[in-house]
Amino acid sequence: MVIAMQAHATAEQVDAVREQLEQAGMRTVAGRDGVRVLIGCFGEVDAIAPVAVATLPGVESVVPWRTPYRLAGRQLSPAARTVVRLGDGAQASVGDASLLVIAGPCSVEGREMLLEAARGVGRAGAGALRGGAFKPRTSPYAFQGLGLDALRWLAEVRRETGLPVVTEVLDPRQVDLVAEHADVLQVGARNMQNFPLLAEVGRVRRPVLLKRGLSATVTELLLAAEYVLARGNRDVILCERGIRTFEPATRNTLDIAAIPVLRAETHLPVIVDPSHAGGRADLVAPLAYAAIAAGADGLIVEVHPHPEAARSDGDQSLSLAGFTELMRGLTPFAAAAGRTLVQPHTPGREAAA
Ligand code: PEP
Ligand code: MN
Repeated sequence: MVIAMQAHATAEQVDAVREQLEQAGMRTVAGRDGVRVLIGCFGEVDAIAPVAVATLPGVESVVPWRTPYRLAGRQLSPAARTVVRLGDGAQASVGDASLLVIAGPCSVEGREMLLEAARGVGRAGAGALRGGAFKPRTSPYAFQGLGLDALRWLAEVRRETGLPVVTEVLDPRQVDLVAEHADVLQVGARNMQNFPLLAEVGRVRRPVLLKRGLSATVTELLLAAEYVLARGNRDVILCERGIRTFEPATRNTLDIAAIPVLRAETHLPVIVDPSHAGGRADLVAPLAYAAIAAGADGLIVEVHPHPEAARSDGDQSLSLAGFTELMRGLTPFAAAAGRTLVQPHTPGREAAA
C-alpha cells in the first residue's frame, strides 16, 4: 500500500507513521506527489491493516499499489525522472534533456581495435564506449569474447579516452570483477530474467543497463528492473532492443511503442539499440531516428573499425565513417525531440579529437 500524508502533515507525523509500519515488519520508502509526502510500504501486506493506518495523525489516504513494479513505477514520485550518471567523473548522463549515444564494437577483439573504435566514436560525439568482454552466444562454438584481457583493455581505453565504458556481465560470480573494470554493467537480453544476476548487480554501485528479453513483455522488463532497484541500486537504464516476432526480414522487431509506454510507466531512462533490433547496418539510422522521435533517452549502437572482419555482429555494425554520418543525421531529430547531443569536455575527448 501507499500512504498519502496530508499536505500540512509535520515531519514528526511522517516519521511516526513510518516507525509504526516498520515496527510491524514492513519496509518504507518515501516519495512525493506535489506537496504531499507519500510513503510506500514493502513487505507483508497484511502485517498492518490499512484502516488502522488511515486513522494515524497526518494521514490523508491509504491506497493499494497500482502496479506490481513499485520502485520502478511512478506512483511514489509521479513527477520525478531518474537521471543516471556514467563514469566516476560523471562524464555522461542519461534521463535528462540530453541524448546519450553509447557506441563501440559488439565484442572487444583486441587492444588496438578497441582504442581505434573508442577514438573514432569519441571524436564523432559518443558519450560512452560499449564493448563485450563476455559474450552470450547462441552457439557454444561461436566467439565467446576475450574475457579478462578484454576487461583490462576496456579499463585502459577508458583511461586513455575519458569515455565511460559499458560491458556485459553474464555470471553473478563475475559482477565484482566487471564492476572493477567498467562504468556500466550490461545485463543482456538473454539474461533479463536471470534473477541471481539481477540481485548481484543490484548490490554494486555501478549503473545497470538492462536489455529487454527476446520475448519479454514491458511488465516483465520492469519487474526485472525492480529486482535491481529492490537490492538498493537505483541506477537502472532500460533498453529496448527488439523482440521476437513472426517477421524474418529483420533480426528482431523494434517495439517502438514500448518507448512511450515505458516512459509513461517508469521514471527510469529508456534507450534503444537499433543494431540488434534490425540486425543490419543500413537499418540503424532509420530505427535510431524513429526511437528519438518516440522519446528515447539515448541509443546504443554497434560500431567496428572494420565491420567486414568483425568476430561478432559485423552485419549490423557501422564503420567509423558510418557512425560519424549517423551522428550528423541524428542532430535534427534530437533537436526536434527537444534533446541535446552532448559532447562533454573530457581530457580524453580532446586527446581523441
Ligand atoms: C550485445 O549488446 O552485444 C548483445 C548481445 O545484446 P542483446 O543482449 O540485446 O542481444
Ligand atoms: Mn552484438
